[in-house]
Parts: sequence; structure tokens; C-alpha cells
Amino acid sequence: RKLGYAIVGLGGYGLGIIIPQFKNCQHSKLVALVSGDPVKAKRVAAEYGVPERSIYNYQNFDSIKDNPDIDVVYVCLPVSMHAEYTIRAAQAGKHVMCEKPMAVSSKECEAMIAACKKAGKKLMIGYRCHFEANNLEARRRARAGEIGKLRYFRSEHGFTAGNPNSWRLKKAMSGGGSLMDIGIYALNAARYMTAEEPIAVYAKETTDRHDPRFREVEDMIEFELEFPSGVIASCMSMYSANQNHILLMGDKGRIDMEPGTRYDGNKLWVGQDRSNLITPAPGPGATQWSGQLDHLSLCVLNNKEPIVPGEEGLRDIRIVEAIYRSAREQKRIALI
Ligand code: NAD
Repeated sequence: RKLGYAIVGLGGYGLGIIIPQFKNCQHSKLVALVSGDPVKAKRVAAEYGVPERSIYNYQNFDSIKDNPDIDVVYVCLPVSMHAEYTIRAAQAGKHVMCEKPMAVSSKECEAMIAACKKAGKKLMIGYRCHFEANNLEARRRARAGEIGKLRYFRSEHGFTAGNPNSWRLKKAMSGGGSLMDIGIYALNAARYMTAEEPIAVYAKETTDRHDPRFREVEDMIEFELEFPSGVIASCMSMYSANQNHILLMGDKGRIDMEPGTRYDGNKLWVGQDRSNLITPAPGPGATQWSGQLDHLSLCVLNNKEPIVPGEEGLRDIRIVEAIYRSAREQKRIALI
């Protein structure tokens, strides 16, 4: 059976990336839209065969509870709205896929987890790289010991932020700057590649506060994570240059990915340098997104926990909070 998804937020990601992916899914289909723009919603509904009765707006959102076609609500909204729509969806009796970063604070993440638990509904975070073939291959090879004992992880993620009025550059809507939006890929990868949880962080932020884009949020932040095994992860995110790279250094070789976490075109080398380009084994879905969507559907159908549940989003946000604190107080912060 295919589970029915309602997409909340018809923006760059919800409309541009997620909606076209249902055609690649085996267990997931698009059945409803939630948008503040009725003209756009009607056009998208017609294009994707969504009935007009299944178009909702932010005011009548809660009436999704009366629509049995909707099994899952996929929250593709600015970060400050993730908690509200996740909690309202759970209260309407729906499972939830929520985009990354999970929320603007760990307190909100905890409330989201509690609401889904109380409603007996699944909560998964949109960490698509856990379904991306190159990332899965890299992780498999690292765990199989192909590069020996892992000593060092490095990742830089950035893009050039444009419009100063974008919600991404408003602290109240984004919760923070490049770290929240794109640095979270480096942070999450440091955790899934090492299979360890960091015990301490140290961070340094540098931002040109005269740049109209960066009045409220950081541009560049460098953060170091200490892992129990002795591995150090050195990560950086920025809003003033394009960069997308993951590197694992072991005592017998390296795993290098550039780009590492893009929508497509990711590349993976394993060995001493970049001479051995790897073709990864196929991921779980035809694309990283269909793998991600169908994973949640199968978890619902088989009553299993998603591999990237709300708790995974919460772990990252707790570390993000420690990173910001470290940068602010200019000191190492021990975790737990
Ligand atoms: P976007 O600005 O393109 O879209 C946001 C949508 O929310 C728009 O349709 C907008 O109309 C709607 N919205 C409703 N209320 C709003 C308000 N008060 N202010 C602003 N917009 C409002 O953003 P996006 O790039 O689609 O990002 C949406 C979410 O998806 C974010 O959480 C982002 O981090 C995430 N995202 C994830 C990936 C990924 O690869 N997993 C990629 C891009 C974005």
C-alpha cells in the first residue's frame, strides 16, 4: 500500500524537490497540499492530481484530521514553524516527516518528540543523506575498516547567501545562520560517519556584521568535535562561499567526498588520494528522496522506528546549541 502525504509549504524544497519525487516512490504518494497561496496550491494540485478538497491553508490545517487519505504530514516550512506544524499534525492523528534542522531549540525538539509519542505517531527528520548512495557506501567502507583506524574527520559546507530578506537570514525564523542550515550536514555526517557521539565542542565564529545579510545570523563558523575514540572532527560552515566536502582520514587511507551531500553529482574516492573513484552500491530507493519517503512509509506500515527519528534531530540541535555557546563564550564546552 502507498501511504498518503500532505506537503506543508510549497517553497523551494517542498515544491521544487519533494513533490516531484513521489513518482519514484513505491510506498508513498502525494495526496494533499498545505499552502498560504491558494492560486499556487490549485495549480500544483491540478499538476499532480491532488483533489481540490485536499488543499488546506495554515488556518484550516487542523481539519486534516478528518481526511483519511492523509497518513503523513511532511513539514517543509521555515525552521521556526517546524515545531508548531509537527505538533499540530500529531494532534490531528498524522505521522510526521519534518525537515532539517529539526527546530530552533532543543526545547522545541523535545516538545515535538513528546507530541508524536503522545499521539502514537512516527516522527522522522529529513536527513536525506542517510539514504544517499555515496554516503552509505562511505560509511560502510569506514566501518569495514578499509581506511584502518579512523583518526580525523573534516567537513566544510557552504553556499553564498543572497537575499538579505530571506527567512534563513532572520534569526527568529531560522534559529541561526549557516550552522543551522548547512553546517548541520557536516555535524550530522561527523556523527554518522564515525558512529560516535561527541564529548566536547570548541567553536569560533567570524562574520562581517556590516554585510546586510549578516545582521542577525552568523556567516562562518568553525567547530571542532571531540569523540571518545580520540577522533577529532573539524567542521566549518559558511554563507559566503560554495563548498561541500567530507573527508575521513584513517591510518591506512582516506575516504574523500566532494561534493559530499548535494542533491546529485556527489563523488567518492577511497584510497591514498583521488585516483580511485568509487561507484557506490545503489541506495535503498531510486533516489535519496524516494528512499527517505519510502523508509518512513515502511516504518509506519511495519510499526518500526525510523533510522533518523526526532531523537536524531534533537541530538544535533543540542550540539548546535553547545557550538553557539562555545563560540560566544570562547571556550571548550563538554557535552553531557
Ligand atoms: P523556502 O523559503 O523556499 O520555502 C518555505 C515555504 O514556507 C514557502 O512556500 C513559504 O511560502 C512558506 N511559508 C509559510 N509561512 C511562511 C513565513 N511566515 N515566512 C516564510 N515562508 C513561509 O524554503 P525551503 O528552502 O523550501 O526550506 C524549507 C525547509 O526545508 C527548511 O526547513 C529547510 O531547512 C529545508 N530544506 C531542506 C533541504 C534538504 O536538502 N533536506 C534543502 C532545502 C531546504
